[in-house]
Amino acid sequence: MTPLKILMVASEMVPFAKTGGLADVVGTLAIYLKKLGHDVRVVIPKYGSIDFSRHRTRVLVEPMGVWMGDKEEWCTVIETHIQSDIPVYFVEHNGFFDRWGLYHDEEMNDYLDNPKRFGFLSRASLQICKDIRFSPDVVHAHDWQCALVPAYLKINDSDDPYLGNTASVLTIHNAAYQGHYHKINYDYLGLGLQNFTEDKFESYGHINLLKGGIHFADLVNTVSQGYADEIKSPYGGVGMAPYLSNKGDSFFGILNGVDYDVWSPGKDTFIPVNYSLKDMSGKKKCKQVLQSVLKLKESPRIPVIGIVGRLVDQKGYDLLAQVIRRIVDDMAVQFAILGSGELSLEQFFEALPKEYSGTIGSYIGFNNVLAHLIEAGSDFFLMPSIYEPCGLNQLYSLSYGTLPIVRATGGLNDTVINYDESTGTGTGFKFWDATTDALYYTIGWAISTYYDRYHHIETMIQSAMSQDYSWDKSSKEYVKAYHKAIGNKNDR
Ligand code: ADP
Repeated sequence: MTPLKILMVASEMVPFAKTGGLADVVGTLAIYLKKLGHDVRVVIPKYGSIDFSRHRTRVLVEPMGVWMGDKEEWCTVIETHIQSDIPVYFVEHNGFFDRWGLYHDEEMNDYLDNPKRFGFLSRASLQICKDIRFSPDVVHAHDWQCALVPAYLKINDSDDPYLGNTASVLTIHNAAYQGHYHKINYDYLGLGLQNFTEDKFESYGHINLLKGGIHFADLVNTVSQGYADEIKSPYGGVGMAPYLSNKGDSFFGILNGVDYDVWSPGKDTFIPVNYSLKDMSGKKKCKQVLQSVLKLKESPRIPVIGIVGRLVDQKGYDLLAQVIRRIVDDMAVQFAILGSGELSLEQFFEALPKEYSGTIGSYIGFNNVLAHLIEAGSDFFLMPSIYEPCGLNQLYSLSYGTLPIVRATGGLNDTVINYDESTGTGTGFKFWDATTDALYYTIGWAISTYYDRYHHIETMIQSAMSQDYSWDKSSKEYVKAYHKAIGNKNDR
């Protein structure tokens, strides 16, 4: 197959800026596309928080003018590389991107000018192509932040010498985040009043960036087939169902992969001792260090349940908050909790270790090293999500032999095989109802299996660690999706 020229546009990417799984996906998919022989380049904002000390940078374009409505914005484009040969272009506009957070301030208030910030990023990404004379076969835009890329391509650049033949793919990592903002921002975006209609950008009098992106993209995907089915249904689709259904066979799921160079117990450079299926002794040491770091009672025999995630409604931690006292009162189990997000949940989980000293340990904040240690040192990993587009942590947990306990939704349902007590098989424990009872009894089921049928746990660990969710397969599916998008564009 001839190599493709691919421009990815995203609001976060490892190793530069990360708030969630999106960053892992963008950074790793780029590497795997390159391995397949494609010319892949990535555009992200130059946030003030990015540490460039380990990267050589150069100015690629300066100054670069970007037309937003009838206003020209000026910025600089900085270039660096990952893996030495994948260019990453940073759009430097300090007024927009040199701020405390990526999307919100310390109090979790969305920046009010987010549609302008990310509309600008989207338009700037296409301007870069013109300025450096790069003519991509496909642009791959991620989430609502970059949903305007497909729109600008069609609305403004359909006759452009560099972009006129470029197809677009939009990946939805979470359909609940749609970029829903006041229409006061619309003129700035320069999308034309004719597109402020119910089937494109208008939604109850406001702007919906994701909806417009879905309309204009040549192909739309999300990050698991289970979630693709959910968001085509009226309840799970949070308003997007009819627009996604309209895309026909140009909307489907491609499961995220795992970067096993980073997230596997044999190669992980953050954990105290590496281990593998052949020699699991390192896992015991990781558990001991985890217990010590989070001031849990150091005991190899008490099962530890790990949690890493954004403390937001979606993740189901409020269910856990309602029932965690009952769990630790009734069961001999420990919790190792890492997360940040909504203030009430942060305060709740931060206070618990004082009440349950030695049994519940928590760290409120973003801490990548601790995230790795929790994956390696825990016996179980809990994800009680209300919905989960793909979920990466359960995939990481499988790789570390840390059995996931999950609500059977979206990607969690697609990737975890439920324990079968009669055969001792499975890779984790699932529950369906989003209730405290279902959560309580499923944790009880996992913990009783740990104490009463540990040989089953051992079999499950073996099969969990043998699962293969590498990007090898998923990156090839993206390449197929790119070709389909190109075909769709040519058909039109
Ligand atoms: P989402 O993208 O919805 O946040 P995922 O499970 O797909 O959920 O990905 C979450 C990613 O973010 C994982 O790599 C996880 O380790 C990381 N992560 C989430 N919260 C934290 C935190 N507080 N500290 C460190 N890493 C975190």
